[in-house]
Amino acid sequence: MTLQLTHYINGQRTAPSARTQTTYQPSTGEARGEVSLASVAEVEQAIEAGKQAFPAWAATTPLNRARVLFKYKALLEAHADELAELITREHGKVFDDAKGELTRGLEVVEFACGIPHLLKGEHTEQVGGGVDAWSVNQPLGVVAGIAPFNFPAMVPMWMFPIAIACGNTFIMKPSEKDPSVPLRLAELLTEAGLPDGVFNVVNGDKEAVDVLLTHPDIQAVSFVGSTPIAEYIYSKGCEHGKRVQALGGAKNHMLVMPDADLDQTVNALMGAAYGSAGERCMAISVAVAVGDEVADKLVAALSPKVKALKIGDGMSPGMEMGPLVSVQHLQKVKGFVDQGVNEGAELVVDGRETRVPGLESGYFMGGCLFDKVQPEMTIYREEIFGPVLCIVRVPDFATGVKLINEHEYGNGTAIFTRDGDAARQFCNVIQVGMVGVNVPIPVPMAFHSFGGWKRSLFGPLHMHGPDGVRFYTKRKAITSRWPTGIRSGAEFVMPTMK
Ligand code: NAD
Repeated sequence: MTLQLTHYINGQRTAPSARTQTTYQPSTGEARGEVSLASVAEVEQAIEAGKQAFPAWAATTPLNRARVLFKYKALLEAHADELAELITREHGKVFDDAKGELTRGLEVVEFACGIPHLLKGEHTEQVGGGVDAWSVNQPLGVVAGIAPFNFPAMVPMWMFPIAIACGNTFIMKPSEKDPSVPLRLAELLTEAGLPDGVFNVVNGDKEAVDVLLTHPDIQAVSFVGSTPIAEYIYSKGCEHGKRVQALGGAKNHMLVMPDADLDQTVNALMGAAYGSAGERCMAISVAVAVGDEVADKLVAALSPKVKALKIGDGMSPGMEMGPLVSVQHLQKVKGFVDQGVNEGAELVVDGRETRVPGLESGYFMGGCLFDKVQPEMTIYREEIFGPVLCIVRVPDFATGVKLINEHEYGNGTAIFTRDGDAARQFCNVIQVGMVGVNVPIPVPMAFHSFGGWKRSLFGPLHMHGPDGVRFYTKRKAITSRWPTGIRSGAEFVMPTMK
């Protein structure tokens, strides 16, 4: 029976929309379900539900909002295997990786459980004689989140736990490729005691997104996805007076210094380049080798490992890489590899023809490794978002840093070295938002904030952590004086603090 993946509005799943789209199981290539594509009226219905639920939820004490999130955390833990399996079936990533994604999302829930503390404002007694001043952080109203396919649990959880902890109500628009998990996340929130209408899910495409960007009752929009769409979301949302944070694409480089521990570096590159089939915004897709000797050693050590990657159904134990998300994406990634070959890069390992026995219709390809990639090549400039690692050779540290700084993306980067001075200088001068020192995927923990620089992020505030609380609240500064009765008379001059 085909799964009907509809919307979740006011505490329940809705009937299917008039327009639908098929979802697939990438490991088999078989159709899995029909996702509803919301009409304007359906999105408006969700926004209205959020609007109606807002006053009571905003008036609920932060402590009681946190208590719902504590119950939610317990439910997420109890349902972890079920949720991870849904991720693997719809996205393709291997089961343990899906559980890892869930954990990183859960950590944001844990952070949001501290909301009574996080919402505390500032207070100054006696800013003037008999005058006190303080600030409070208040929710915005109905806010929206739009997510990409590659983290169907974690990216929504970067957004909504903090938004609702702050007292907002939320409309989530997941990727139409893997909407099952966000729908289950919504049901579990209801089970945790969240009032109806506080968290709603609308599935859909541009038609639904455009309503969220233009509707007067949406106060803020969080987006994660590709750069062209992030830029569109940012400009259109801002044009309509909304607060917007829009995270875009990436091309993350690892600078490998001559003194780096080779085994550590190679293992780090394997996981960071080929984990989740390279469909991670923090995947390392470029290794910048300082000196030919390092480059030669890297190629020699990486090649057999890339050829030996265990590729198969993400639910089979021991797999290291599952399929890509869709047949279109598979073709696009293979097209990039073709282009790299045509442009003269050296394809050391070619995974284009890799097949998984018994799963011939799945969207699988093997890992690809390019050497001698030049900065003007398409495979260097563009985000491939697949299991393709490019090695670029540079003569020295300064050239490597310059290369990274000149790339249009600035999401994540890493340096592998045993030299503290080089690492410190790298952290200081690199024009990238998240930096790892001997850490290949430096995703900040939930109590810090996640975000890139340059064309990897539009808007001033990063996601989750302290920036998340700032994004989902507006600050009010209150200055207060209680009258002294007959002791004071009227004042006719501009008030200054005495
Ligand atoms: P995408 O940009 O195609 O889609 C993201 C969301 O935007 C989806 O919900 C989709 O329905 C919606 N959308 C697509 N086209 C639209 C349009 N024309 N108008 C309005 N909405 C539209 O991205 P994707 O393919 O789902 O995800 C992969 C991309 O996301 C990669 O570029 C990756 O780097 C990026 N990403 C970035 C981060 C980060 O933190 N910077 C994290 C995860 C993924």
